[in-house]
Parts: sequence; structure tokens; C-alpha cells
Amino acid sequence: MPYPLPPAARAWQEKTRRFVAEELIPHEVEAEMNGGLLPASLRQHHRRRAKEIGLHALAIPKALGGAGLTYLEQVVIQEEIGKVTNALGWCYDSTPPWMAEACAGSPHQMETWVMPNIRGERHECYAITEAEAGSDVDAIQATARREGDDYLLNGEKWHVTSANHADHFIFQAKIQGGAHAGSHSLFFVDMKTPGVTLVRTPAYSHNYADHHPIYRFENVRVPAANRIGEEGDGMAFTYDWFRYERLGIAARCCGAAARLIEEASAFARKRIAFGKPLADQQAIQFMLADSVSELWASRLITYRTAEEMDAGVDRKVSHAQCAIAKLSASEMANRVADRAVQIFGGRGYMRENVAERFFRELRVDRIWEGASEIQRLIIANGLYKRGQAQLIE
Ligand SMILES: Cc1cc2nc3c(=O)[nH]c(=O)nc-3n(C[C@H](O)[C@H](O)[C@H](O)COP(=O)(O)OP(=O)(O)OC[C@H]3O[C@@H](n4cnc5c(N)ncnc54)[C@H](O)[C@@H]3O)c2cc1C
Repeated sequence: MPYPLPPAARAWQEKTRRFVAEELIPHEVEAEMNGGLLPASLRQHHRRRAKEIGLHALAIPKALGGAGLTYLEQVVIQEEIGKVTNALGWCYDSTPPWMAEACAGSPHQMETWVMPNIRGERHECYAITEAEAGSDVDAIQATARREGDDYLLNGEKWHVTSANHADHFIFQAKIQGGAHAGSHSLFFVDMKTPGVTLVRTPAYSHNYADHHPIYRFENVRVPAANRIGEEGDGMAFTYDWFRYERLGIAARCCGAAARLIEEASAFARKRIAFGKPLADQQAIQFMLADSVSELWASRLITYRTAEEMDAGVDRKVSHAQCAIAKLSASEMANRVADRAVQIFGGRGYMRENVAERFFRELRVDRIWEGASEIQRLIIANGLYKRGQAQLIE
């Protein structure tokens, strides 16, 4: 039964679906076999096509040059983008909404980073996690010490996604000294600032063109004008970012599961074993039935969470709802990927097979932007403080 999507959301879903099926999916295996890379001309073509259909700064108001979409519209787009492996769907600029809001009071920051970011001329990456601080963000050791009109930044950041395609960091540090000592702040740090060094680029399970390197910041001097918001605002901006990303992950996981169910059931219908299609075996039917049922539940949660955000739900309620969406969809997609590999049998273990690639790629969705255990803690906290009625009724 189709979800009662508004016509505009349905139109976004259809055109993104066509783009993904016709232009991106055909290049997955080539990307997989080349460390995630496609020829530069093809990637440029994908970026151009994405922009032509309107995939650009989806969350940014039209007045600032963005697409000004609702969260529900963004979720249906993200769901389609989630259907393609090797992050080939990361082919459009997606300035996060928190950045435009946080920097609205600073014409300098809007002109230097935010507007060029929205126009697709500049690209950010997030430097929050450290070797000794991931789930426990408050354990970060990076520091920002005020010196006159500048700050001196120090620290080492891990897993900085897309740093190889970015030209500035959003660097999170604790303020050293002064009235706000120990509180968190975010800073724009241009990549070429003296004191910034690439430590190394580790290999990960997936094959993506976007890497996750480790960067060191040694006595990096930036003007105080690079600080986003006031001293101590950092965690609030980071939570805004987490909520937005968690909803996006939930949507992409639903898309991945939908694709896997399609591919696995098509295979089960044509694969003959013991004289009949695999699809006729009850064991296979059970795996597909569980997958469809779980996908529907996660999709409904994800769409409803987006609708709540569009309706202006309280931020703290939204924090728990986004955690529920991410937890439900990421755990579901991993179960679906595991079953899909099983249905494909030996083929499901080959890198040229979509189930094998998703089996590896989806694993990180239970870890990044807050691991499943952390989502559970957030949900329990929301339940104790606000009760079921406010969260899910
Ligand atoms: C591919 C990739 C890309 C990433 N991109 C970025 C990025 O761009 N920028 C960035 O800043 N970070 C990034 N991260 C970091 C990511 O957000 C962290 O890895 C994640 O938050 C988990 O932190 P951790 O790895 O330090 O694990 P830890 O915090 O050490 O946790 C290890 C395990 O213990 C569990 N655990 C921790 N605390 C508790 C608890 N209280 N109760 C129960 N279980 C607990 C966790 O759930 C996890 O399973 C990325 C990570 C990966 C793998």
C-alpha cells in the first residue's frame, strides 16, 4: 500500500529513483573493483545530472539558494540514494541545515564558508571523533585556547569522512581557560592552515571514493571569527547535525533494504534447486517475509519522524525519535543484507553481487553518527524524561 506522500514528495521520489536506477547503479561494480573510484568525467556527469534534476542543498532555504525541501521530501530522496552501493549517490552538495542557521549572524562566515558551500564551490568535513573519544563526545581532548583575536587549536581527529574532497573542517574542541573553560566549540578550519597535517588514510570495509583519514592539528592558529556561535555552543550544533544525519541514515538504510529485497526475490524466483524455484521454499519465503515486514516498520518510523520534524516537534523529542529511526532502520537493513547474502548463496559472497557489497557497507550504519548502543541510551533517556506519550503516541 503506497504511503500517502504529498504529490511533491512523490515527484522527488520518482525522479531520484530513475536517476539512481539509470545512471548510478550500472556503475557500482566498476566502482567496487576500483577502490570506489569512477573516471572523473563520469563523476562530473553524475554531479551535473544530479543538479539538473534538482538534487542540491536540499535542506537549505530557497532564499539562500537551496532547494528548500521538507524533511519528508528529503527522506524519500535519501531512501532512493540509499539503493546504490559504493556511495555513488554522494554526488550532490548537501550543506547541512544547522550550518546556515548557526552562521546566520555572521556575514563573514556566511560569505567565506556557508554560501560557497551551498553553491557547491567549497566542501566541509567533520572532525569530532578522536582516538579516545567516539561515543563519549565529551571525552575529546582537542583544545581551543584564546590568544588575543585568535584561537590556538590542538588535537588529533579520526575518521574524518570526505576529508579528501573537502577544503575546510568543522573542528570540535574544548575551550581552554576563560569563563567557558571545558565547554565545547566548533571552528571553521581551512585545510591549508599551517599546523594541519594528514597523519594517514586507513582502509575501511567499504570501497568508497570518500576516505576517512586521521588529521593532526598542532598549534593551528585561526581568527576568533572562525568560531561558530559562542563559546560553549558546540555540542548543541553537533546534536543538530547528529539528528539530521541519523534521519538520513535511517532513510538510506530503508532504501538499501528495499533494493536487497527486490534483488533477492528476483533471484529466488529464477534460481532452480531440487527441481523448483528457490522462491517456493518456505525457508526462503520466511526470510523475505521477515525482511518486508521489518522494512515497512522502519520506513513508517522514518517517514513519521520526518513529518514530526516538519511539524516543528520539540528538539528533545526529535532527538529520541531520530534515534529510534536510526536504530530501527540500521539494524533492520543489516538483518536484510545478511538474509540476502544467504538467499544468493555462493554468489552472495562475490563482490560483484549487490548483497555482498551492502553486507559490508551497511555495517557502519550501526556504528557511525552514534552506535546502536548509544541510540538505545538516547531512547531510554527520552522515555524516562518525557514518557511514551510524547515520544511515540
Ligand atoms: C567509516 C566511518 C566514518 C566516520 N566519519 C566520521 C566523521 O566524519 N567525523 C567524525 O567526527 N567521526 C566520524 N566517525 C566516527 C564515529 O562516529 C564513531 O566511530 C562512533 O561514534 C563510535 O565511536 P568509537 O568508534 O570511538 O567507538 P567507542 O565509543 O569506543 O565504542 C565502542 C563500542 O562500545 C559501545 N559503547 C560505548 N559506550 C557505551 C555505553 N555507555 N553503553 C554500551 N555500549 C557502549 C559502542 O556502542 C561501540 O559498540 C566515523 C566512523 C566510521 C567508522
